[in-house]
Amino acid sequence: MGGDIGRVIPRETVRAAWAANPSGTPAMWIRDRLAGVFSEKDFTGWYPADGRRGLSPVTLALVSVLQFAENLTDRQAALAVRCRIDWKYCLGLELTDPGFDHSVLSEFRDRMAQDDRADRLLAVMVQRLVEAGLIKQRGRIRTDSTHVLAAVRKLNRVELVGETLRVALEELAAADEDWLATVMTPEWAGRYARPVRYDRLPRGKDELAVHVLQIGRDGMRVLEAVHAVGVRQRLRDLPGVQVLRQVWVQQYWTDQHGDLAWRAAKSSRDRQSRHGRPRRSSSADGEEQADTIAARVPWSGVEIVSPHDPEARYCRKEGKSTTKAEWVGYRDHQSETCEEGVPNVIVHVVTRPAPVQDIDAVEDIHAGLTACGLIPDEHLVDTGYLTPDLIHHTAQRWGIALIGPVRADPRGRPGFTKEDFHVNWEDHTVTCPRGVTSPPWKPTLGDGKPRLSVLFPRAACRACPDRAACTGDANGKGRHLTLLPEPLQKIQTLNRADQQSQPWKARYALRAGCEATVSETTRAHGLRNCRYKGLAKTHVQHVLTAAGTNIIRLADCYTPGIVPDRPPRPVSQLQRLCRRLSAQTPQ
Ligand code: SF4
Repeated sequence: MGGDIGRVIPRETVRAAWAANPSGTPAMWIRDRLAGVFSEKDFTGWYPADGRRGLSPVTLALVSVLQFAENLTDRQAALAVRCRIDWKYCLGLELTDPGFDHSVLSEFRDRMAQDDRADRLLAVMVQRLVEAGLIKQRGRIRTDSTHVLAAVRKLNRVELVGETLRVALEELAAADEDWLATVMTPEWAGRYARPVRYDRLPRGKDELAVHVLQIGRDGMRVLEAVHAVGVRQRLRDLPGVQVLRQVWVQQYWTDQHGDLAWRAAKSSRDRQSRHGRPRRSSSADGEEQADTIAARVPWSGVEIVSPHDPEARYCRKEGKSTTKAEWVGYRDHQSETCEEGVPNVIVHVVTRPAPVQDIDAVEDIHAGLTACGLIPDEHLVDTGYLTPDLIHHTAQRWGIALIGPVRADPRGRPGFTKEDFHVNWEDHTVTCPRGVTSPPWKPTLGDGKPRLSVLFPRAACRACPDRAACTGDANGKGRHLTLLPEPLQKIQTLNRADQQSQPWKARYALRAGCEATVSETTRAHGLRNCRYKGLAKTHVQHVLTAAGTNIIRLADCYTPGIVPDRPPRPVSQLQRLCRRLSAQTPQ
């Protein structure tokens, strides 16, 4: 097997494929309807121009998409190329073609993980679907995210430092065993010869503290040795040594006496803050608290949690059930079309470390949709993806209407909300429901962004019968409001009013379909668990999963019956009895 994908399907393959599959299969549908989706020119620059001709990248891309459509391993996919008639039909192979070794699929994904090749491949597929009239170019798109578990074991902090040092030692031993023998001492064999696991750690708090510092000193010895004058740069550049250096910075610090010390764990208050980023104190003892924060491990966005996948991150999502509340890994954002009467197609995928919030992916999603020539008129998202700032920015920069519920008033108690006040933008004043007009507002900052601070006169509020409900302050302080700049405040007010109306709810109801897509990609295509390590290869998995999902959906929609229906759920003996008894019951 070699060269380009078969331009003409061998006659015997056609005859056998249709004889065995009279309704066709998704693999046969791609070949017939989309002419195999990809072409050689889509892979220009992926391979060096000279050298021996290898397998066609078109073939490997198609096999990869079919593999993820059916959630197969590399070995199963290579076996399918060798044994399945419909796959041979799709690839244009003779029935006698022996296929290829499964390892080439892994090499192909390595190439695909470089730069933005994975995104370009999905963009090519989307472009073919547009050309085939299966997607509208300007329409509606909806986006949702889901958590993805890294392909590594969750480690506690002691396991993390021990395992990080062991991985670095493994790499150094492979690179220069004789040099490493001059650094290690015989006791290290007991500590690092086997994978570090919690059940092999010393028992007791004091013993564990001593052990942690011993690991720290061992790690420092390795780092000082590799950075010594005369040691080859190659040893310093080993990935395991680089991770060792970063983990030691994050987990240890040098105290005021110059001794190596173990950083304190994040406080529960830090974990509750957005992204797990430590909060800074504004109290009088702020200096002391800042020191304490410096001695803690860093926020989750940068903290390495496993040396086996240094890009995976810890995240905790508040308000979710305990099984979903915390995970180590990534976050996948899927954007799909949602036009009525045609199948929904996943057109863009963004993969980010787990703690990166949904709102931080919006700009990348719009840039990606623009790059593949699919700018929607409307983009339906949930609250996590939008703020008044972003709605305004998206309309101005991309010409897209970002639709979703903005956050409700954060007061969380009865009383007048911001929307009950009348804002006079010319006079820079606000009038409350009781008819009191505030003095002109003052510019201020909120989260580093411009805001307007409005304070009603204390005397007027003290005399007001609605004071307790309005100000929430029995001591008689005046009501305080924080407004956004004019265009943003108008967007927020309008959105909060709109999102209570039935027409808005009916328009927004389409977004709920995202949950079904998340369920489909995680349950049928294995998206929930990373197959590979590292952000780039995880993203390749997500792109191929999206492409595979699209193929199954389109084939099922345009050739009903091509995807086998699930067998009906079996009825139990008891259910049969219940049905018989209900049928006998007089109405
Ligand atoms: S408490 Fe002050 S701001 Fe609120 S309604 Fe009364 S007068 Fe107006």
